[in-house]
Amino acid sequence: MLDSKIGCTFVTPMRTDPNIEDFVDSNNPVVRKFSDYLDAHGMRKTTERYAILQRIMNFNGHFTIEELQQMIEGDGFRVSRSTVYNTVELLIDAKMLRRHVFEGMQAQYERITLPHTHVICTTCGKVKEVRDPNFAAFMNARRFNAFNTDHYSLYVYGTCSTCARKSKRVKSENNKRKKSL
Ligand SMILES: [Zn+2]
Ligand SMILES: [Zn+2]
Repeated sequence: MLDSKIGCTFVTPMRTDPNIEDFVDSNNPVVRKFSDYLDAHGMRKTTERYAILQRIMNFNGHFTIEELQQMIEGDGFRVSRSTVYNTVELLIDAKMLRRHVFEGMQAQYERITLPHTHVICTTCGKVKEVRDPNFAAFMNARRFNAFNTDHYSLYVYGTCSTCARKSKRVKSENNKRKKSL
């Protein structure tokens, strides 16, 4: 499990340097995990891949591929959409990142942290994270026949208080209008 506070420092990127570990903190456990993964799969340790990793590790919350690319570009780094996408896929396979597909929304990604429930407003699309120790205790104790649980996701759909207030206001304005006609 990753500590949410772990980030990695990334000093002056040198695109052409073939040995990324010369300038990335290779002792950082997150960096090490990714490096081990790339080694084990015979993949190249490119500057782009580590720049993407660094951006993800320094970000708390959910993001889409597009948002991630924008953040990386905000760091002054140019990466193609397909490189971002491919690196995200590698990080999912390395069990460092998780994909969520909430109903009617683009895929969102987040680092693997403590288990939490996602509460999703179907009107505005806002996603809230909720920690529920009772539910976690229930799930930790839950065994399924002929099945080993790795992780679980719980999505709760509904209406957030802001949207509920808005729709109430719209309804009462409509009623007033009807009465004044
Ligand atoms: Zn809402
Ligand atoms: Zn989440």
